[in-house]
Amino acid sequence: MVNISYQLGCRHCFRTDGVPSVYFLADGDPALFRKKPEYEVVRLIENWQKQDKRKCQFCTSQNLEILEVKINDKELYNFDRLSSICRSQYRNMFNLNIDKKGDKISVGHGTSPFMDNAVLLSMLSKFSSLVDSVDSSSFEEHETGNVFMFAMGDPEFNNDPELIVVHKFKYHGITKEDIKKVLDPKHWSAG
Ligand SMILES: [Zn+2]
Repeated sequence: MVNISYQLGCRHCFRTDGVPSVYFLADGDPALFRKKPEYEVVRLIENWQKQDKRKCQFCTSQNLEILEVKINDKELYNFDRLSSICRSQYRNMFNLNIDKKGDKISVGHGTSPFMDNAVLLSMLSKFSSLVDSVDSSSFEEHETGNVFMFAMGDPEFNNDPELIVVHKFKYHGITKEDIKKVLDPKHWSAG
């Protein structure tokens, strides 16, 4: 049995209920779920919540953010675990953090060593098409906001966006247009 628990945040009123939500999969295999990228499980939960017509308990918005996913009480996304996989398997990785405070947008990022420009551009392209694939209405603008993304490449075919796996993608408070501006390749160079 698989026990999938998570915290729910609201992208409209910014409140969290502080109590974990849980889905049980009677015939699920925990070992298989532990290998999944967190973002893949987030998409599953989003679909289940849509079917269940889940709403924020404070403001009734359905624009909900899924946080801290755990499989049988063990966190699914662990930066240290993923970076050690990258090191031992010579994979590229890329993480991006965007903070918004009023009109000011600040960007931080991290990469695996020796990442070349072609791989960097593929990572940006992967994030960009991911942002495009999400419904615009879920990007509600607020005074403050944050976006965090983490992706890993395939050991052999690092610059094929098809083979880049997104492990983490969370966002609130920032518009789709502002995220797309940050991802524009003209601001980036691996150096
Ligand atoms: Zn709310």
